[in-house]
Amino acid sequence: MKWVNHIAIAGATTAVIAPQLVPIAILGSTAPDWLEWIYKATGNSIRHRGVTHYVSSWVIGLLFCVFLFDFHNIGAAFFYGGLTHVIADSFTVMGVPLSPLSDTRFHLFGGRLRTGESGEYLIAWGVVLACFFVGSYFNAFTGWYPFFYDWAGLYDAGLIDASEWKANRFRFI
Ligand SMILES: [Zn+2]
Repeated sequence: MKWVNHIAIAGATTAVIAPQLVPIAILGSTAPDWLEWIYKATGNSIRHRGVTHYVSSWVIGLLFCVFLFDFHNIGAAFFYGGLTHVIADSFTVMGVPLSPLSDTRFHLFGGRLRTGESGEYLIAWGVVLACFFVGSYFNAFTGWYPFFYDWAGLYDAGLIDASEWKANRFRFI
């Protein structure tokens, strides 16, 4: 799957829950591919969608960060991003490996997608749209709009003072 779609999926879903972690999730969402480059750059040979695409390692990493140790949820966001990457890749014909223990490839929805074809864009932008609606729904009921901190609105509501608003008005995520 193309990076633009990996980034869209991880970025949009993270924005709903924790907008400040979006950059980390995006870094994680491309990691299974750039980790392959690092392997190669250090003179190792690696199969595309091999070791860096084990579904199990990203799940274990995420669980570790959520339950055992993390620093400001940065680890969790990174592994979450990586997990969205391998899951999205599992929609493709090639699939992804589950773990080092077996050679079976993991496919979701029949693994019919071909990288670069319209199907992957449909999935990615479908996710973005769904997140946008979930975000708007939150906003309607709680006044909390996850994609953009509503600093001006908070100022009007008297919740923050002017200096806080000044410091944050250009911060969108
Ligand atoms: Zn990949």
